[in-house]
Amino acid sequence: MSQLIAVEKVDYPFPAKPKVLTVDQQQFYVQEIKSLLKQKNAKLIAHYYTDPEIQALAEATGGCISDSLEMARFGRDCDADTLIIAGVKFMGETAKILSPEKTVLMPTLEATCSLDIGCPEDKFAAFCDAHPDHTVVVYANTSAAVKARADWVVTSSIALEIVEHLDSLGEKIIWAPDRHLGAYIAKKTGADMLMWQGECIVHDEFSAKALLDMKHLYPDAAILVHPESPASVVALADAVGSTTQLIKAAQTLPNSHFIVATDRGIFYKMQQAAPGKILLEAPTAGNGATCKSCAHCPWMAMNGLQAIYQSLTDNSGHEIKVDEALRQRALVPLDRMLAFSAELKMKISSNI
Ligand code: SF4
Repeated sequence: MSQLIAVEKVDYPFPAKPKVLTVDQQQFYVQEIKSLLKQKNAKLIAHYYTDPEIQALAEATGGCISDSLEMARFGRDCDADTLIIAGVKFMGETAKILSPEKTVLMPTLEATCSLDIGCPEDKFAAFCDAHPDHTVVVYANTSAAVKARADWVVTSSIALEIVEHLDSLGEKIIWAPDRHLGAYIAKKTGADMLMWQGECIVHDEFSAKALLDMKHLYPDAAILVHPESPASVVALADAVGSTTQLIKAAQTLPNSHFIVATDRGIFYKMQQAAPGKILLEAPTAGNGATCKSCAHCPWMAMNGLQAIYQSLTDNSGHEIKVDEALRQRALVPLDRMLAFSAELKMKISSNI
């Protein structure tokens, strides 16, 4: 039932890797950031894909480490005046859309996402206009302007349930921008989905052939796969899900070894949740020495300690701003997702 649409091939501007710090420099920045967070009543909110020292700092300072849905919720509900979003730009924008009264800072505004880049607002709006009978569902990994054009925003932790719900109402869906996640959801739900052809440059590189070779070396390992990966990789999985769902799978499955097909930043929390278990990085298709093919997002890697310190000492060039009229429009589909998610949680807990 699902159909594909063609979009132009995108050349991604790969960022330079951040400077490697000495141990003394790391300690200096950690201490300074801790005291600045207190002084400014600020919270550090980090994505699972950021480097371990950033996640440890978020944890030690009462911040949050999570997927993009929980990051947004935590930022909205905490009582901080300032949020430091260690992740990529759409996460900072989402925090600002939900918390307009808070100052939202990012270590660097240049940290973006191939899905966001690959779905420009003007082309997406024209596509939606050409299919006015479709409900527009966009992944959180999009700009505020693309969200403003949508009926629903979803994250990978709730996409399946929301599409199932829309399908039960008989709605036809425009899905953007991740083609692999869209194909996975269309297969699971049978929904009528018209797909934008975006991709995550990290997950798109996981290779089914290399994964099978690795499985021969570790026959008892369970394979955990994020659904932004190609269908051939998803087909080999013992568990498929969002970052939070994969961490839970590592905790609950009985296997001692796991081959993990998502960004290796997840290992920090996964190892905490599943101590004693062996976590192995799933192989990518290309040359592992380049940013184009390794299991770590080059934009997430831009979130260094030095950049966090700079954002706290001088806001300029770090603050996320979203035009108020645009914010109001982008808030509608985001609030719809959060309300749906809260209702689902209540239903699940009342059934337990
Ligand atoms: S890992 Fe992929 S989806 Fe996540 S921010 Fe990087 S490019 Fe975007």
